[in-house]
Amino acid sequence: MTADFAGKVALITGGSRGIGRACASQFAQHGARVAINYRVNRTAAEKTLRSLPDGHHDIFQGDVSDYDSVVKMVDSVIRTMGNVDILVNNAGIYELHDITKLQPGEWKTAWDRSISINLSGAAHVTFAVVQNMIQRGGGRIVNISSRGAFRGEPHAPAYGASKAGLNAFSQSLAQALAPHRIYVYAVAPGFVDTDMAAEPLSGPLGDRFRTESPLGRVATAEEVARTVVFLASEGSEYLTGSIVDINGASYLRT
Ligand code: NAP
Repeated sequence: MTADFAGKVALITGGSRGIGRACASQFAQHGARVAINYRVNRTAAEKTLRSLPDGHHDIFQGDVSDYDSVVKMVDSVIRTMGNVDILVNNAGIYELHDITKLQPGEWKTAWDRSISINLSGAAHVTFAVVQNMIQRGGGRIVNISSRGAFRGEPHAPAYGASKAGLNAFSQSLAQALAPHRIYVYAVAPGFVDTDMAAEPLSGPLGDRFRTESPLGRVATAEEVARTVVFLASEGSEYLTGSIVDINGASYLRT
């Protein structure tokens, strides 16, 4: 695969840690200028920035669940770095909210947070970026979904629903935006070795989770990032609308 993003700007939401950091690294290695969005953890965002090879990369604070914050963040990216060619909607949270255990207020909070960050957040950033992409005649969007959209999330149903919604959002926009030469993809990882999965993977069920895959391990963030880079590359246009599983054959769907 040859990915050459020279002269291109890639905006990665939640680029400060985990999968977002790995995406930032790989886009930068392939020549892109990278805009790293983060919500609160500026130190982590700065660490990601310092780790990138030379280039005009920068960090941008913004809460994807807050529309006004998103507009400010995207304006700032365009003003500082130029138009966005590639958007990776990666920012996300995973919070447990077992329907058999929660009080009504806790249940509502869990749904509001999961949907507003994982689903509406991606929609807000996409809207802000796409207006500019349409004017310029093209772009690429990769949404980070999850195996949970297909397999179910019994202890975090709003997470599963937010990712299933993100899949439908990706496919709808793939159809709506193809005439503008904007191509939209989703990737659906199983467990990935990041902060988000640290607790379950280090707990008593860790080995069970690892052996869900016949590879006997979970994915690395770099493996996810490589697929994201591939989808964002020249030549992947006809894959628009695809949802690519990255789950080590732990959950096969036909
Ligand atoms: P992570 O290590 O917990 O990192 C999450 C990133 O999202 C951080 O950079 C965080 O920034 C950012 N973020 C959270 N809420 C935000 C908000 N409201 N606005 C802007 N940024 C926000 O997670 P990860 O494992 O890399 O996950 C990345 C994506 O992959 C998520 O969408 C997740 O659902 C998906 N995924 C992960 C796994 C897994 O096992 N890890 C599996 C399937 C899918 P701050 O640090 O500033 O809060």
